[in-house]
Amino acid sequence: MKDLFPLLILCLVSLLSFGQVSLSKETQSYVSHARGNYVLQNLTIVDGKGNLPKIDQDIIIKGDIIEAIGKDLPIPKNYKVINMAGKSAIPGMVMLHEHLFYPKATPGGFGVNQMSYSFPKLYLAGGITTMRTAGSIMPQADINLKNFIEKGMIPGPKMDVTSPFLDREGTGLIELTPLKSTKQAVDAVNFYADMGATSFKVYNFITKEDLKAIVDAAHKRGLKVTGHLCSITYEEAADIGIDNLEHGFYASSDFITDKEPDACEPFKQSKSLLELPVDSEEMTNLINHLVSKKVALTSTINVFEPYTNREIVPGGGIDALYTDAKEKVYKRWASKQGRDSLDYVMFNKSKVWEKAFHDAGGLLVAGTDPTYDGRIVAGYANMRLLELFVEMGFTIPEAIKICTLNGAKYLEQDKTIGTLEPSKTADIIILNEDISQDIRAIRSIEITFKNGIGYDSKKLFKAADGIVGIR
Ligand SMILES: [Zn+2]
Repeated sequence: MKDLFPLLILCLVSLLSFGQVSLSKETQSYVSHARGNYVLQNLTIVDGKGNLPKIDQDIIIKGDIIEAIGKDLPIPKNYKVINMAGKSAIPGMVMLHEHLFYPKATPGGFGVNQMSYSFPKLYLAGGITTMRTAGSIMPQADINLKNFIEKGMIPGPKMDVTSPFLDREGTGLIELTPLKSTKQAVDAVNFYADMGATSFKVYNFITKEDLKAIVDAAHKRGLKVTGHLCSITYEEAADIGIDNLEHGFYASSDFITDKEPDACEPFKQSKSLLELPVDSEEMTNLINHLVSKKVALTSTINVFEPYTNREIVPGGGIDALYTDAKEKVYKRWASKQGRDSLDYVMFNKSKVWEKAFHDAGGLLVAGTDPTYDGRIVAGYANMRLLELFVEMGFTIPEAIKICTLNGAKYLEQDKTIGTLEPSKTADIIILNEDISQDIRAIRSIEITFKNGIGYDSKKLFKAADGIVGIR
């Protein structure tokens, strides 16, 4: 114990010596641009509002704020000038379906391991500056992580922490305790809100009565509820007052013709979606209903990306996986080659439906959902998701807007984050290549600025190599 004291004092000194921003030594080791006053010159900019790209732009950063953006801006005194010709800039991403865990083999079912060390780094490396976790298995760890990141103790994005999955018996996830009553669901909302959770997520086996009580309790505190549904239809949930639905239309049970109330019937559900014509009137009606009820829809289309002729780990993060996971993911990918035609059908339909929701005026937001079979890796997945939005038919500025401003709008933080505009927080991704010409330039992230501090993306990615699945 005694030996630890010099170390503690050293840590304290390093925290204090960084001016107003207290960054630990660990966090500082990933910083390429300390907080200061910068003129980033000659960038191509996609602003997050859906506007056409602009070339030869300067961004002036003053501390943690974007002071000005424009062409050939006069250089204020004592600002550091950096020529960024050939590079491009977009807002830091605001992603709404993130997790801090990775799947593991568990006897008798499915389990997950908390990734408190690797995932925050990977998210920041991949350009995420704000994220909502969409369901937690270690809420206390997620809440602490959020606070540790805010204090500069570890590098990572700003976080909106969601409660543990609120669900009844049925899911079989070993890390989750099912709720026994509606009263317990309400108690959970209040308990986790008091702990620091700012969002809630209901899951597959929840009842309508539970959902109503959860929505009322959360709304009373000014907090929002999302759901990965199965037992409740999208229409029912929208009428009850849910704020957000996860996984596009993959979790919609609205089209089961003989649906039992409050019952989750996954086989009937996927069959009904497969059989539903892509241009059906029923889907158009559901979309219009959701839009009229102002329910946001989260696309996690990357999770459903088929295997055949596609990357093993979408976004390119295979080296982040520890050896066993790498082997497992590779085997599954290889076994699926040429054998996932049904997945392709659903994937293609979902792309059309999600875009139709957006085009009908709905708030389409994005998240990467790093769970499932281990193929989805934090940080890498969000780069891939952005590419898939373009594959879905969105223009590059629209795709970027979905991953930035739309998320900020949902979180009601669009006055301060989500776009590149003067007086907004300096959350900026600097890319080595020109993203306005090719969305794949998202894979060339050089710096992620969060609150005006520039983090070295490559170094953050590298720090997580080989440990995803372990810690
Ligand atoms: Zn999820």
